[in-house]
Amino acid sequence: MSGRNSTVFISLGGNLGDPKKSMASALRLLAAAPGVEVVAVSSLYRTPPWGKLDQPDFLNAAAELSTSLSPHDLLDLCLETERKLKRVREERWGPRVIDLDILVFGDRVIHETGLEVPHPRMLERAFVLAPLAEIAPQLSVDAKRVSDRLAGVDAAGIERLPSGRDWWRS
Ligand code: ATP
Ligand code: CA
Ligand code: CA
Repeated sequence: MSGRNSTVFISLGGNLGDPKKSMASALRLLAAAPGVEVVAVSSLYRTPPWGKLDQPDFLNAAAELSTSLSPHDLLDLCLETERKLKRVREERWGPRVIDLDILVFGDRVIHETGLEVPHPRMLERAFVLAPLAEIAPQLSVDAKRVSDRLAGVDAAGIERLPSGRDWWRS
């Protein structure tokens, strides 16, 4: 793709149904969308729930995309992909079949009600930082490297699964 593309990092997660299958479907749907290329995908991680504790463990992963889409168009694509995978939006931070969050969009900083980039809660979440550090340890967010951020948060209970990085390909 052209040099005008943006480098984007997203997080994927889910803890209902078959999260690995939902996350793989999500990545394949994103890869098939015009203007989106999947550049790298992390291993799968099993992670304890966050925010709301009485729910099943999650699977999480991170991916690097290259896209010609705008931040809002990519967000719409992510929300549409969640809908296609039958995500039902119930309580915040509750169980879900799939969650797609935009973590970083090039060097853009966006503060809107429907879109905040970099994702405002990413730097305190080991379940986001662990997979992200696998594919982008040197990435700088708020002037600090992701790998350094990860070293400063509690990653207890997070387990990198022996999935390799091709787990999402059909
Ligand atoms: P959290 O944002 O704390 O991870 P969540 O992912 O459970 O919580 P959702 O219910 O999936 O929250 O999303 C609520 C809204 O967040 C979405 O409709 C979307 O408009 C908004 N949003 C704001 N910034 C982002 C972002 N960077 N990536 C994805 N959604 C975002
Ligand atoms: Ca989320
Ligand atoms: Ca979300």
